[in-house]
Amino acid sequence: DVVVRFCPSPTGTPHVGLIRTALFNWAYARHTGGKMVFRIEDTDAARDSQESYEQLLEAMQWLGIDWDEGVETGGPNAPYRQSERGDIYQEVIEKLKATGHLYESFITGEEMEERNKAAGRDPRQGYDNHERDLTDEQREAFKAEGRQPSLRLRVPDEDLSFTDLVRGEITFPAGSFTDFVVVRPNGAPLYTFVNPVDDALMGVTHVLRGEDLLSSTPRQIALYRALAEAGVVTEIPQFGHLPYVMGDGNKKLSKRDPQSNLFLLREAGFIPEGLLNYLSLLGWAIASDRDVFTRDELIAAFDVADVNPNPSRFDAKKAESINGDHVRMLAADDFAERLVPYLKGVFGGEPDEQQRALLAKAAPLVQERMQLIGQAEDMMGFLFVTAEDVEYDMPTVEKLGADAEGILAGSIRVLEELEEFEQFETGSIEAALRGLLIDEMELKPRVAFTALRVAVTGRKVSPPLFESMELLGRDETVARIRRLME
Ligand code: GLU
Repeated sequence: DVVVRFCPSPTGTPHVGLIRTALFNWAYARHTGGKMVFRIEDTDAARDSQESYEQLLEAMQWLGIDWDEGVETGGPNAPYRQSERGDIYQEVIEKLKATGHLYESFITGEEMEERNKAAGRDPRQGYDNHERDLTDEQREAFKAEGRQPSLRLRVPDEDLSFTDLVRGEITFPAGSFTDFVVVRPNGAPLYTFVNPVDDALMGVTHVLRGEDLLSSTPRQIALYRALAEAGVVTEIPQFGHLPYVMGDGNKKLSKRDPQSNLFLLREAGFIPEGLLNYLSLLGWAIASDRDVFTRDELIAAFDVADVNPNPSRFDAKKAESINGDHVRMLAADDFAERLVPYLKGVFGGEPDEQQRALLAKAAPLVQERMQLIGQAEDMMGFLFVTAEDVEYDMPTVEKLGADAEGILAGSIRVLEELEEFEQFETGSIEAALRGLLIDEMELKPRVAFTALRVAVTGRKVSPPLFESMELLGRDETVARIRRLME
């Protein structure tokens, strides 16, 4: 059975590349009926933070990426934070020492440089395996000098090949890397050790992760083989390296780029359904002629074998447009409810009953045209203030022509008369205004309605005008038109 894992280090804020990795692992687990493990790689106390950990949880929860075992939920392989697994690593280290896969290394960086220079090599070339076969006497002598050894993995001198699930056959020729340090002199095991050890102990079958980690894979496979020989594991997982995500200007999308910050995307108004859909397109496609789909459709279709090895590009426009498609798929009341957090500034906190009622009526007017629900305040804010507080888009106001005065005055007159005969409703409002402005005054609709629109909504672009007037009611509508005339 498939077991995948998501194992971030809790540093920084969740970003697009990281979440795409979580998403692909999750989609593959759900597609295959397998398991998703969520482990935290917090071995760097200087950089790890509780805040970042909580943000990871929040990001996963917001997007609906759930896991079967791991932090918070627990499971048979607990604990799931590497900072709590020291004893487990120690045991594995002892086993690998006993089988001769790990050996003590005493040389310092400086000494290695000297050694390379003396041999006529590039001083930065690194370690040359010369401590592989130190005698017991030599080791004791180093220790007597007060040196603490690090531990290195003895790497077999042979080509190392594996079949990448995304990229196919990959070979690292013998000698691509030398015996590398897996445990520091202070006893702390390194990422190259704890990551595969945990994958092994947790039964991970498929490692899907970013292409930036491809260079660590041969080292990890070498470690896996040692673990297998020492009887710690029986099987080596398959690896699949997900393509880079590029940002603007074809540069790798940076973790620090605001465009890649998950919470900023949420703040801008991405809904989880839309972002989940878009992120899954970063290196994968459901079909050549279709890019909008639900999470169930994603799960039904997702296979790591279909991941494209070429770099993908984060295209904000496309992301927004896909988000808009998901916004339109929401049920009306769900949509209205999701706007609430984005309208807090307009409501002055939580909405009261009246504001809620107005929101329910107004939401359908904007649902069709909203790509990011963060546009709510901009598009609907005018409905929740009174005439004095309408903020005018001044360039539009200044561009109103000489007809504006007459348009506004005439509109007030017909709107005030309207109620004597009819309800103040979209249909009657439209009929009255068209009758006056288009039929009688023979104005172009664009001219006539721009003046009214900016008076009522403050904007040149707004939700449908007559509907908005109905929602505001006659007095409020007239008050706004009057205010602009002053
Ligand atoms: N903690 C590592 C990272 O966040 C995990 C890498 C991996 O998936 O192996 O980069």
